[in-house]
Amino acid sequence: MKTFISDNFLLHSDFAATLYHDYAKSLPIIDYHSHLPQDQISKNHVFKSLTEIWLKGDHYKWRAMRVLGIPEKFITGDASDQDKFNQWAYAIPHTMRNPLYHWTHLELLRYFEIDELLTPETANKIYKTANEQLNTPQFATRSLLKRMNVEVVCTTDDPIDSLCDHLSIADQRTGIAVFPTFRPDRSFAVEDAAAYNTYLNKLEVATNTEIQSFDALLKALQKRINYFHECGARLSDHGLEHFYYPSAKDSFNPERLFQKLKQQISLTVEEIHFYKYSVLLELGRMYHAKGWTQQFHVGALRNTNQRLLKSIGPDSGFDSIGDFSQGVSMSRFLNELDITNQLAKTIFYNLNPSDNEVIATMTGNFNDGSVKGKIQFGSAWWFLDQKDGMEKQLNTLSNLGLLSCFIGMLTDSRSFMSFPRHEYFRRILCNLIGEDVKNGELPADEKWLGQLVSNICYHNAKEYFNFKN
Ligand SMILES: [Zn+2]
Repeated sequence: MKTFISDNFLLHSDFAATLYHDYAKSLPIIDYHSHLPQDQISKNHVFKSLTEIWLKGDHYKWRAMRVLGIPEKFITGDASDQDKFNQWAYAIPHTMRNPLYHWTHLELLRYFEIDELLTPETANKIYKTANEQLNTPQFATRSLLKRMNVEVVCTTDDPIDSLCDHLSIADQRTGIAVFPTFRPDRSFAVEDAAAYNTYLNKLEVATNTEIQSFDALLKALQKRINYFHECGARLSDHGLEHFYYPSAKDSFNPERLFQKLKQQISLTVEEIHFYKYSVLLELGRMYHAKGWTQQFHVGALRNTNQRLLKSIGPDSGFDSIGDFSQGVSMSRFLNELDITNQLAKTIFYNLNPSDNEVIATMTGNFNDGSVKGKIQFGSAWWFLDQKDGMEKQLNTLSNLGLLSCFIGMLTDSRSFMSFPRHEYFRRILCNLIGEDVKNGELPADEKWLGQLVSNICYHNAKEYFNFKN
């Protein structure tokens, strides 16, 4: 039995098929935001089973399994790899119309050339066939990246990270550029004063400095930015519920708040917002000075389920789309950086699709003719990273900005098996343009539209980030 994933999967016109097969398909992948474990790249890890590479750490799959009433033992618990896989195989037919159904079969096909549907009946055969391949050096992490035509991967790293794995990967001359990304969320996570002090201690060790003042904190962060830059970092990333712009800016002082935190005194909500704003503003100026790109992931409502958070931990499938107000504080924050001409290249990813238009128009406010596509409305993220969400992001961007300047897709994944998401995106992009041509809304100029597609899938990102060779 062949899967439904044919050569022209998601491509509903001849023009779309030409765009995909002749212009998009074989371009390398620049995966500029991911959470791949650096140590598994540096050690060229070989996976022992399909469960390990595919189910471990994948909260999308875990959520689906919980909907079906599958006991946690088979999801994140101590059941065997084989039993966990069998439960996933049982779940799969039930995931029809969820993106998991497409991703699953695309991944089986692209990594293992398995073109059978995953069902309880085919589970054992598929598990065996995939595991036989996985246990060979041809399926070690770096081979998997090469198999998927990955040119650049950016991981996500805390300022205190030594980046020893990145140094080791660079030394090994693997042929794949793996760069760190500066993710300083803990440097402004001041909701818990005790935890913040523990973090400051670690930052002191990492920078070999004493951090007894707000100014010293900024100097320590600058030191780490310099180090990350030497290791090839050209991006930072931040996860925020929303931007912060304090209403009573003059009545706060970051140094005074820093000293309160040092004395383990909790800050008020307004003080917390002011502190975050102060750190983010100074970081923004540092990124600009380095020529970096700053990324902001906004709008997630995290850790909603206390009971399961306590037993299973964060990032395990208990987060959802938040309904925070984004526009006003975002515009003021950007303006504050722009007013002194210190606004770095910026990418926004929003989790609430009702903010699509807000974000897409906001980006236009701060493009200043210095860089092509300087402020980007980022690719559909997390819950929106599916066909409908991607089409909505592409359509909003087309209507309110310039699709032609878009830097395209990223996996944002912890898994080495997520790279067919780029193929999924490319097919959806080509199909949208093909539909316009079919409807007479765009001229059938293959060369022009083919170039545009290849820019969005590869060349725009390459030019925008300017990674070191
Ligand atoms: Zn991410």
